[in-house]
Amino acid sequence: MDLKQYVTIVDDYPKPGISFKDITTIMDNGPVYKYATDQIVEYAKKVGAEIIVGPEARGFIIGCPVAYALEIGFAPVRKEGKLPRETIKVEYGLEYGKDVLTLHKDAIKPGQRVLIVDDLLATGGTVEATVKLVEELGGVVAGCAFLIELGYLDGREKLKGYDVHALIQY
Ligand code: IMP
Repeated sequence: MDLKQYVTIVDDYPKPGISFKDITTIMDNGPVYKYATDQIVEYAKKVGAEIIVGPEARGFIIGCPVAYALEIGFAPVRKEGKLPRETIKVEYGLEYGKDVLTLHKDAIKPGQRVLIVDDLLATGGTVEATVKLVEELGGVVAGCAFLIELGYLDGREKLKGYDVHALIQY
């Protein structure tokens, strides 16, 4: 299946000059959403993932069905103040500014193989920050999976030494 045809390009969103990749037209099509999920499930099996970690909010949309299919856990990475218990945090730069991401302190067991999942790899800032959170807890980043990679923003550069898998390339 050619997944790319189901991505909708929205020019000048969220600001002029940005060519936004809208994945809601993958999600609202059942067989297409399932196909995309299945591809990431296969990758998760290949890298031996024991838990999925995904940054809010679109990382949940991609990561949770993968965790469900494999009957493994999902740990959410969220903006500051959103997780109710003790967290660790990291500051990061993203394509449109700066922010803080947090993860529950007991979300990952030391040595656990973690697959990080998000909808889209742009500059890599979000995933780099997520890697830091996982590793601070002693998790092993088994791989990073995305629906879309914006190759021209070179996010892979920040993920050197990690296994990176993307279903759609721009
Ligand atoms: P990065 O941190 O620069 O790699 O940006 C990735 C994050 O920004 C992801 O969590 C995406 O959800 C979001 N993002 C950046 N550009 C787009 C886009 O074109 N479509 C959808 N999400 C995007």
